Amino acid sequence: MATDKNENLMEKIVSLCKRRGFVFQGSEIYGGLAGTWDYGPYGAELSHNIKELWWKHFVSSQENIFGISTPTLVPEAAWKASGHLSGFTDPVVECEKCHHRFRADHLEDKKVCPDCGGKLGDEKAVNLMFPVSMGSSGDSVAYLRGEIAPGMFLNFKNIIDTIHPDLPFGIAQIGKAYRNEIAPRDFLFRVREFDLMEFEYFVRESDWEKYFEMWRSEMHKWVERVGINKDMVHELEVAPEDRAFYSKRTIDFEFDYPFGRKELYGLAYRTDHDLRSHSAGSNVDLSFFDEESKERFIPHVIEPSFGHGRTLLAVLVSAYREDVMGDDTRVYLAFKPAIAPVKIAVFPLLKNKPELVEKAREVYKTLKKEFGAVMFDDNGNIGKRYRRQDEIGTPWCVTVDFETIEKDAGVTVRDRDTGEQKRITVEELVSYVKEQLAN
Ligand code: ATP
Repeated sequence: MATDKNENLMEKIVSLCKRRGFVFQGSEIYGGLAGTWDYGPYGAELSHNIKELWWKHFVSSQENIFGISTPTLVPEAAWKASGHLSGFTDPVVECEKCHHRFRADHLEDKKVCPDCGGKLGDEKAVNLMFPVSMGSSGDSVAYLRGEIAPGMFLNFKNIIDTIHPDLPFGIAQIGKAYRNEIAPRDFLFRVREFDLMEFEYFVRESDWEKYFEMWRSEMHKWVERVGINKDMVHELEVAPEDRAFYSKRTIDFEFDYPFGRKELYGLAYRTDHDLRSHSAGSNVDLSFFDEESKERFIPHVIEPSFGHGRTLLAVLVSAYREDVMGDDTRVYLAFKPAIAPVKIAVFPLLKNKPELVEKAREVYKTLKKEFGAVMFDDNGNIGKRYRRQDEIGTPWCVTVDFETIEKDAGVTVRDRDTGEQKRITVEELVSYVKEQLAN
């Protein structure tokens, strides 16, 4: 029987994340650093699994997408050339009375302060990038990247010269981006340091609409694969005046977060803006020679962009469940097995029977060797152990009981979502779990 999980859903998720070691406030013992979050053991596993699945989906299983990894420090000249120094801004208004600052595009009434009712001042464009002084004299300026795309454009020539790809092809990476958000809020949704998973897909100009559509539908497939509820994802055609300065078409993929429908992902047609401006700024030719047409030109770019923290939050919101099992209300996270932080938990039925513990440890070792993220737990009664695993989203719990050792009858496996148990041999379990993880 389901309960009304939506009441205070955000508070429930934040509290579960803290209580069970998924996510903590960044630098908490010093009072917290706004807009930063630390991932604890289960959060780090979940985060890693999402990145790995994304890489598999968009990089290693593709024939023509090449993964790279580039520094978060990028020189000022590159940002100047791409237009980010002047254009990577948010519109900000400040209250003349309480001096609180707001994103003008997030306010319904841009004249009245939502906090104190005071008069809001004029809108100003505030740059989001963090400048960093480099070198011993500190007079060389770099910026912590506000987006990870420049890494792909700055490596365009390296990829052409080393891999020699034909068009279309993509360059992908996963990495940190930094934005000096004026109002970090809503847990992992709006932070100042976050991971992006992104690729630039280089195409002939005449093909841009075809590939824009191709990646649009692939993004929906990803949403389902990672375990985001597809009914909570909605496309928004971004109006020209709201698009980033480099984009000729953008679709936002919005998600129904508990605090409202907000951007999850973006899909942008960046034209040839970036390669053209970096060519001009660096004096390095970033054109492409097309063997087919024997023409040299600057390719155009489609960019699917996936916020990693927003993915993790959308996954948590989609996976959070409450129901009544037996006499208890239980909370569980219905993660897809591929991203679950712990795949299998192994229990001896009783803690004080050495033969059960010994056999359970043997099963645990076998499974751990196969799957890595396997846990052993002999604390408290079986019911409590199940609840603990449900709360962190472990798909399968395995119990070693007397039948396992006396009759060589295998182990019992309990399914997280249905609570159903069945008896199965360890070998059968290994192939079953392998099959599930491959999906
Ligand atoms: P918003 O309008 O919400 O500020 P944006 O349109 O500026 O977002 P993009 O520049 O398109 O965002 O960034 C690409 C992706 O990075 C977004 O789709 C989102 O998933 C993620 N993202 C952007 N800003 C943040 C942030 N401050 N914290 C966490 N994730 C972010």
